Amino acid sequence: MGDFIVLGAGSVGIGAALALQARGHAVRVVDARGPGEETSHGNAGVIQNEARAPYAMPRDFPTLIRYGLGRSNDMRLDPLALPGSAQALLAYYHHSAPARHAAITRHYAALMARATEDHGHLITDAGAKALIRHSGLGEIHDTAKGFDTRARTAELQAAAHGLKLRTLSGADLRAEDPALTRAPIGAIIWDETWSTSDPGALIRAYADLFTARGGTILQSRAQTITPTATGWRVERDGGHLSAEHLVVALGPWSPAMLKQLGYRIPMVMKRGYHGHYAMQGQLTRPYLLADHGVVVSSMAQGLRITTGAHLTRSDGPRNLAQLTHGAAAAGDLLALDGAVPDSQWQGVRPCMPRMLPMVGRAPRHDKLWFNFGHGHQGLSLGPTSGALLADIVAGRSDDLTQALAP
Ligand SMILES: Cc1cc2nc3c(=O)[nH]c(=O)nc-3n(C[C@H](O)[C@H](O)[C@H](O)COP(=O)(O)OP(=O)(O)OC[C@H]3O[C@@H](n4cnc5c(N)ncnc54)[C@H](O)[C@@H]3O)c2cc1C
Repeated sequence: MGDFIVLGAGSVGIGAALALQARGHAVRVVDARGPGEETSHGNAGVIQNEARAPYAMPRDFPTLIRYGLGRSNDMRLDPLALPGSAQALLAYYHHSAPARHAAITRHYAALMARATEDHGHLITDAGAKALIRHSGLGEIHDTAKGFDTRARTAELQAAAHGLKLRTLSGADLRAEDPALTRAPIGAIIWDETWSTSDPGALIRAYADLFTARGGTILQSRAQTITPTATGWRVERDGGHLSAEHLVVALGPWSPAMLKQLGYRIPMVMKRGYHGHYAMQGQLTRPYLLADHGVVVSSMAQGLRITTGAHLTRSDGPRNLAQLTHGAAAAGDLLALDGAVPDSQWQGVRPCMPRMLPMVGRAPRHDKLWFNFGHGHQGLSLGPTSGALLADIVAGRSDDLTQALAP
């Protein structure tokens, strides 16, 4: 059995570490912070059984202009980011063409179909059931036209993938979720989707399971990675480590780490924000406020509002316009009692232009493995892509592994 270092202790790194460990490998995880403290902490906490197609880039000009002018809360595009992201964005545009997107969706759906089941095993083993809700994900609509249009596309999505879907009137939704202060026009409920009240705590519980099973987690920043005669050497704050195999699971930081080995990996860095708000009552489930591009979810720290994407330079200033808009929309539907002080967060969805994570053997280096680029659904996919990586290490090769190959 092999000896592995996994760089990154987010959902993806811990998912890989557990899966490799389960197959008898010796595994050490290295992270600059504690497990699940970065992107895997800040997300909307939805384990998205319903998400069977990746987010394509809109290809119509009016929508792109709306993004550029800041007229949509789903996505904002900072024109100053365009020169630095041109290669990634052009490739994203290319792969978003309907026929290509349909082909990619086949593989994406195969991954996502396993997400809740793969989490389920870890949730049980980690004793983390108290962090999980099995009450679905809702989409709340406030215009009749938007609701009707979405209900039709959602029904097609449900039929194509064998998913359970309910459409509810606003009054019926309020009966199910009394924390709503008024009835919206209507809602769609994906009953088989799960969510967590604390994504960071869920990853910490998985990390504790990994260490209880004999794994090691080191809190230290990796600086350089170098191939050696027998495997890999990681220079890190406070010393170095060597192992036969190295897994790069650094989420949005993966391309920067791999640059030193000559890999140029275009990634679409979709920044997102969250903020917490005190609220009277608790929501039964998370909701996408479909007209406002935010997800609201009752979490350990209060109501968490997470925003859509802000495409900006990695060092671009924080722009809380989407969060502010989302908080106003949430306040119109829920009894909010003000923002929790210092609760605003920003992070990056690590999105690949092909909309599939890169999972597998590095193209030009032996015993180097990639596992990153899980975009909008990396909390959901951590255990599944970890299991897949462990299969690939063991020699699996099929349609899916080839589609995800770096
Ligand atoms: C606003 C928002 C909402 C989202 N909502 C959802 C959702 O509801 N459901 C869902 O499935 N997904 C969601 N996502 C996506 C999901 O959060 C990410 O895809 C996922 O967390 C990525 O996990 P990761 O392990 O790849 O990255 P991370 O969690 O970022 O882990 C990478 C780790 O690498 C470490 N690191 C970086 N550099 C170094 C270094 N040099 N040395 C050592 N360690 C280093 C970091 O400390 C970090 O812990 C959302 C994302 C955002 C931004």
